[in-house]
Amino acid sequence: MNASRSKHTARVTTLTVLAVTLTAPVLAQPKPIPQETHAWDDKNLPPDRRAEMVLVHMTLEEKLSLVHGAGMTIFGPTDPSIVRSRGGAGFVPGIARLGIPDLNLADSAVGVTRGAQNSRYSTPLPSALCLASSWDAKLGHEYGALIGRELWDQGYNVFLGGGVNITREPRNGRNFEYVGEDPILAGKLVSQVIQGVQEQNVIGDVKHFVLNDQETGRNYGSANIDKRSMRETDLLPFEIAIKEADPGMVMCSYNRINGEFACENDYTLNQVLKKTWGFKGWVISDWFGTHTTVKAALAGLDQEQPGSKYFGEDLRKAVESGQVPLPRLNDMVRRILRTEFAKGIIDNPPVPKVVDVFAGLEFAQKVEEHGIVLLKNARQVLPLMAGSLKSIAVIGGHADVGVLSGGGSAQVDPPGGNAVPPPPPPPDQNPIETILSTVVYHPSSPLKAIRAHVPGATVMYNVGTDRNAAAALARASDVAIVFAVQPASEGRDVSLSLLDNQDELVKAVAASNPRTIVVLETGGPVAMPWADQVQGILEAWYPGMRGGEAIANVLFGAVNPSAKLAVSFAKSEADLPHPRIPEPAEKHGPFDGALETLPPFDINYTEGLKVGYKWFDAEDKTPQFAFGHGLSYTTFGYSDIKATAKSVTFTVTNTGKRPGAEIAQVYVGLPPAAHEPPTRLVAWQKVELAPGESKTVTSDLEPLFLSIFNVTRDRWELTPGPYKVFVGGSSRSLALTSAFDVR
Ligand code: BGC
Repeated sequence: MNASRSKHTARVTTLTVLAVTLTAPVLAQPKPIPQETHAWDDKNLPPDRRAEMVLVHMTLEEKLSLVHGAGMTIFGPTDPSIVRSRGGAGFVPGIARLGIPDLNLADSAVGVTRGAQNSRYSTPLPSALCLASSWDAKLGHEYGALIGRELWDQGYNVFLGGGVNITREPRNGRNFEYVGEDPILAGKLVSQVIQGVQEQNVIGDVKHFVLNDQETGRNYGSANIDKRSMRETDLLPFEIAIKEADPGMVMCSYNRINGEFACENDYTLNQVLKKTWGFKGWVISDWFGTHTTVKAALAGLDQEQPGSKYFGEDLRKAVESGQVPLPRLNDMVRRILRTEFAKGIIDNPPVPKVVDVFAGLEFAQKVEEHGIVLLKNARQVLPLMAGSLKSIAVIGGHADVGVLSGGGSAQVDPPGGNAVPPPPPPPDQNPIETILSTVVYHPSSPLKAIRAHVPGATVMYNVGTDRNAAAALARASDVAIVFAVQPASEGRDVSLSLLDNQDELVKAVAASNPRTIVVLETGGPVAMPWADQVQGILEAWYPGMRGGEAIANVLFGAVNPSAKLAVSFAKSEADLPHPRIPEPAEKHGPFDGALETLPPFDINYTEGLKVGYKWFDAEDKTPQFAFGHGLSYTTFGYSDIKATAKSVTFTVTNTGKRPGAEIAQVYVGLPPAAHEPPTRLVAWQKVELAPGESKTVTSDLEPLFLSIFNVTRDRWELTPGPYKVFVGGSSRSLALTSAFDVR
C-alpha cells in the first residue's frame, strides 16, 4: 500500500509541474517542406541515412518536441496535440511538415491495455510468466506478434512491454509481467516476444532497465549490487534482447542502481547499453522516472515520459547554455528518428480497425495450455476420467465466473466487463490508484468449462468463504478442485502466503476428501503449506481470456501438460535470500514529492549471483518445487549423452502411454576457479514424443552462456578448466551427466 500511495503522491505532485510546463512552449512555424522534397521517404535508404536527412531540416523546437511526451489523456488535456492520442500511456506529437508521425505508445505486456476504447476488445493473454513456463521460443514469437498486430489495429505504433527483470524478489508484485528467474531463459524468450512485435511495424521495447525487482519503494530505493552479478544476472537478459531482437527502445526504471537513478545512470545507459552493447534505439524513461535535465541527458536518457518537466523548456535552456551540447540533443533525436524508419512505423503506419477477437481467443487458450504447470500428481489423480466421475466439487477463486488477471499498467480490459465487479472507487481517488488497486477477473468460467467435460456428472460450486460448507461439499463429491488465487499488481508487492485464509480452506477440503486438486492462479511463486495434503496441484498463473477452458482441458487430459517452472517455489519465505525489504519509516508520513530528497533506502542484493535455483543449490536448500520442474501425464527417460564445449547431444524417450512433450534442460557447472553457483541453465529443447518414441537432440552451447564477467577487464571470459554437464527434466532432476574441458 505504501508503495502505491507514494507513487500516487509523487505522480500528482509531478503532474502539477507537468501541467505548467506543458502549456508554455509555442512552436515556431518553420516553412512547410513540400511532400515531393521528402527525400528520406525513399525506403531503399538505410534508416540512419534517412534520419540524418530529416535531422538537418529540424529546428531546435522540433528536436525538443520529440524528446518528451505530451502528457497522459487519463489526467485530462495537457499539451493540445494530445487530442490526437489513441489514449495509450504515452503520446509524442509528430512533425507533419517533415512527415514524422505521432508516436502512440500503449502498455501491452500481456495484451494491449485500454482496448475497449479503440476497438472494443483486445486479447487478454495469459501472463508473461505463463508464457515463460512454456520455454517455447516460437510461442513467444507468436505472443509478440499477436500483441503487435493488435497494437497496430488499434492505431498504436509503440509497444510498452518486454518486461525482463529477473525474479530476484519472488514477492515482487510485477513478476507476472516478467519471464522468470533465469537470465538466459528470460533473455531468449523476451527476444522472441520483441521480434514478434516489431515484425508488425510497431516499435518494441525492453524494460525496466534495470534492477527494479520490487515495487516497495521503487521510486527511490537503491538496488545495490556488485558489477559482476549485475552483468551476469540482471543485465544479461537485456544484453541478449539487444543482440537478438534489436528493440527500438529501452525503458529505464524508477529505482536507483548503486545510488544513481536508473534514468540518469551513466554506467548502465551510456557505458553498458550504448557503448558496450551498441544499442542504436532510444532510452525512454519510465513514467515520471526522470529526475534531472542535464545529468539525465548526459547519462544517456533520450526521452522523458510522459511529460516535459525536465526535457522541455529546461532542456532547451540547457542546450542554449551549452550544458547539454547540441550534438547530444541531435543524438537523442537521431536515435528516435532512425528507429521510426528502421521499425517501419513511417513506411507502414497503422490503419485502425477492429481487432480479430476469435484469433485472439484461440491463441490465448493455446498459451495457457502450454504454460500451465502440473506441479504434483500423486496417485495419478489427474487427468480426471470423465466417465468414472459422478460428482465434482469446485471451490473458491471465483471459479464460477472467471479467472484472475494481473493489475497495474499491464491490466488488459476484461472483454464484456470484470467478472467480479469491484465496489466503485472513492470519488476523489486518483485514476492511477484506481487502476493499481482494482482486481480484475476475465470472464472465462472454469466451472462452466469443467461442466462441459462431464455432462453426466453433478458439478457443484462453493465460494469457499465458509470452510465448513466447502469441506462438506468436498466430502459429498468424488473429487474436489480448489481454486486458490493471489492478486498482484504493479505498485505493491505480495507475500508468499495466500490471503484470505485460503491455506486453511485447502487444508479443510483436503481433510474431507483425499482426492483434492488445487488450481493456483498466481502472479508468481507462493508457499503451499498444504502441498503434502493434496493429491494434485496445477499452477495456472494468470490464465488470460480462455483460461477456464484451458484449465479444464488440462484437468481432463484433453491437453497433456508440458510446461516447466521458470521460477523456483520456496517452501517458505525463510528459505529466500532475505526478508522483504521494507521502506524506511520516514517515508510513511506525507512528503512533497521530491523523491530525490527522501532518505537513502538500500535494497542490498548480497546474494549476488545466487538468484532463484542458484540460491537453493548453493545454499543446499530444498525448494517446494524446483526451477524447471513440471510433470506430464506421460513419463520420459534420458540416455546417451555426449558433450563438448560446443554442443550437448542426448536422447529423450517417451516411456509412458500418452503422447507428450518434454522440455529437456541442459545445465553446466563451471570450473571451481570461476566461483559460480553450482549450475546454470545453458540450453533447452522441447521434444514432442509419441508413446515409446525416442529422439536424439543436439543443443548448441553459446560461448557467452558458459562465460563469466571479468570486472577488471570489463569483458566476458571463459574460465579454463573442467565443465560438468547435466541434462534432465528439472534443475533438481538431472538424469544425465557428462563433462568437457576448456583450455
Ligand atoms: C510502469 C511502466 C509502464 C508505464 C506507462 C509505469 O508505471 O512502470 O511499465 O509502461 O507506467 O503506463
